[in-house]
Amino acid sequence: MPDPLASLRTLLGPRLLEEAAVLEENASDFGRLHRMRPLAVARPADTAEVAAVVKWARGAKVPLVTRGKAHSQSGLSLLAGAVVLDLSGMAAVGAPDAAGLRMEVGGGAAWRDVVAAALRAGLVPPVLTNNLGVSVGGTLSVAGLGIASFREGCQGDNVLEMEVVTGAGEVVTCSPDRERELFDAVRSGLGLCGVITRATIRLVPAKPMVRTFYLLYDDLSSLMKDSQRLMTEERFGYLESWCVPCPQGFRKVAGVPTPFAQWFYPLHASLEFDPASPPDDRALTAGLSHYRSVHVEDRTMAEFALRLEPLFELWKRGGYWAAAHPWMEVVMPWESTASYITAILANLPPHLLGGGHILLWPSKGSTSKVPLFMKPKSEFVMGFGILPGLPPQAMAVAGPMLAKASDLAMKMGGKRYPSGWLEFDEARWRAQFGEMWEPLRAAKARFDPDGVLHPGLVPL
Ligand SMILES: Cc1cc2nc3c(=O)[nH]c(=O)nc-3n(C[C@H](O)[C@H](O)[C@H](O)COP(=O)(O)OP(=O)(O)OC[C@H]3O[C@@H](n4cnc5c(N)ncnc54)[C@H](O)[C@@H]3O)c2cc1C
Repeated sequence: MPDPLASLRTLLGPRLLEEAAVLEENASDFGRLHRMRPLAVARPADTAEVAAVVKWARGAKVPLVTRGKAHSQSGLSLLAGAVVLDLSGMAAVGAPDAAGLRMEVGGGAAWRDVVAAALRAGLVPPVLTNNLGVSVGGTLSVAGLGIASFREGCQGDNVLEMEVVTGAGEVVTCSPDRERELFDAVRSGLGLCGVITRATIRLVPAKPMVRTFYLLYDDLSSLMKDSQRLMTEERFGYLESWCVPCPQGFRKVAGVPTPFAQWFYPLHASLEFDPASPPDDRALTAGLSHYRSVHVEDRTMAEFALRLEPLFELWKRGGYWAAAHPWMEVVMPWESTASYITAILANLPPHLLGGGHILLWPSKGSTSKVPLFMKPKSEFVMGFGILPGLPPQAMAVAGPMLAKASDLAMKMGGKRYPSGWLEFDEARWRAQFGEMWEPLRAAKARFDPDGVLHPGLVPL
């Protein structure tokens, strides 16, 4: 039997990795819920090599899966028997163009490096994810949500141009005005139609400092009322929130002692400022109905962008980082947010989080215009993410609970954020993409005619 990898070895030389340890590393992701061992890992040095690998895959009939930093959790960047296209060799970060408010970066660049380069020029990308260790191509392929998303949409709304290698092996430059169909198929397209090899990112001027107000709410409706008001008035540039349990012991549910909690809702509202004209704290928080103002913190913009790094360090030291992460994230219509969250929290044993947390992300429904970033059509929306870190054996209990929470969210008009833990059959994928199902099928057929890019991920 001829070895399908022989010609790829000639093509890539040392950039084709086949050692057992590398294959093991590439067999899992941050979710740690799947093991899918690839055939080999290709680490192309440039766009021409990506195109050559895609053309080889078409000829050899070997599937490809694109991998950024593998921080998604449900096998989005894994495929057994595939060649992994690892973009880590394409991580160049260009010099920011201060006049044009843009910068060019490689598809495999880490956002941490992009932000550091932009801040040196007094600029910053308008939307940053909480974790800057992820790649530009990885977040553009999902959406890239951040605490400025209520104003600026997702990272996919703030990419000005992309160079993409399609599943046909063609190198295409696309933007809102050029090859629009490909531009829209690749943003939030889960790597199904093309490989992002380069992106031009929009930048905005950054002020030197950020002040954060730590407000605590003791009921969800007050938090939602104030969030809606703050989004409308744009008093703050950044809003993030959580559901935090205060465990109350056990109560009987159907005769079984079951742990339960009283829930609280911190809201962190932040704004950039220049030390020469500090913000008016009283005016900023006037009329809000929080239960307590807990703290006010000033940070440099660089510290603010990396504000969750100390948490991630704690997670690494405490074992949470290495645990299984069946993260269940949804975007809910504002109208059903309160009833959904109340129903979920009433039945969520606090210990299920295993040291993780529950995120709340108030946003507006129409800020993002990325067609494949699926969200409810309501004026306001709420991101809600249960982010547990568990020993794998806990999945027997947690899995069905989280799957039920996912189904209930979709029944109540929500959409899943697909980088998390998905156990989707065809009906659920169709429900997720809704009216975008047929356009996505058409784009897949056009840009990846032989279906070499992650076949089977979405049953298109
Ligand atoms: C601690 C933590 C915090 C997070 N916080 C946020 C947050 O605040 N906001 C948010 O939106 N997400 C967040 N995420 C989720 C994370 O941003 C997404 O999972 C993102 O997709 C991960 O990027 P990655 O480089 O690891 O991509 P991967 O996991 O490697 O890939 C994700 C998908 O993108 C595809 N892909 C990757 N690179 C390319 C490319 N160059 N071209 C085409 N397709 C490609 C892959 O095939 C796959 O389908 C967080 C994750 C973690 C672990």
